[in-house]
Amino acid sequence: MRILRWFLIGIVALIGGALVNEAVIRIPLSRAQSSSDLFSTPVHVRGWPMSVPSHWPPADAAQTKAEKGIAFERWVARAIDADHSYYAAQSIWAGWPLRAFVAEDSVEEHPLMPASIDPMSIIRMPNKPLWAGLLANSALFGCVLWLLAVAGDRFTRYQIRSFRLRRHLCPSCGYPRGTSSICTECGVRHRPLAI
Ligand SMILES: [Zn+2]
Repeated sequence: MRILRWFLIGIVALIGGALVNEAVIRIPLSRAQSSSDLFSTPVHVRGWPMSVPSHWPPADAAQTKAEKGIAFERWVARAIDADHSYYAAQSIWAGWPLRAFVAEDSVEEHPLMPASIDPMSIIRMPNKPLWAGLLANSALFGCVLWLLAVAGDRFTRYQIRSFRLRRHLCPSCGYPRGTSSICTECGVRHRPLAI
């Protein structure tokens, strides 16, 4: 029974950890007014951020950039060939401390319509799981939640115990204490009251 109880507590902690993991990504992403709220540091990269069809030309180094934030990373690359065909790909990784989700987009237009919005300027919610990061983050946040729960439980027990002692009640069951060193209600041994 004890093992089952700890197993269930572990599952609940892991689910709680997974929810914290989600919140770390979704809350900043939904609040971001612009991409600069999520990404700050430019990172030097080269090439396409994901696997692209083999007929694509190499990414244009001048049109390739990556930015890094605390919980987000984004890598965009573009290429325009001699026929004015447009190729672009974007990856956004999200999660803290490890990246737990990714979103990948790619577009190919022949040729790029002058009026069309650059599809790579859109920041999409990363929702494809990266399992190693997702599980590690969930386990980490789960441990934190578990420790907080244990600390909360200890603190409450301590408070109840000292309240009962101050009121001359049995610290374990709250029954009024007599002069005996054994509680007449629950049988717990405690220090007899000084008379
Ligand atoms: Zn008692």
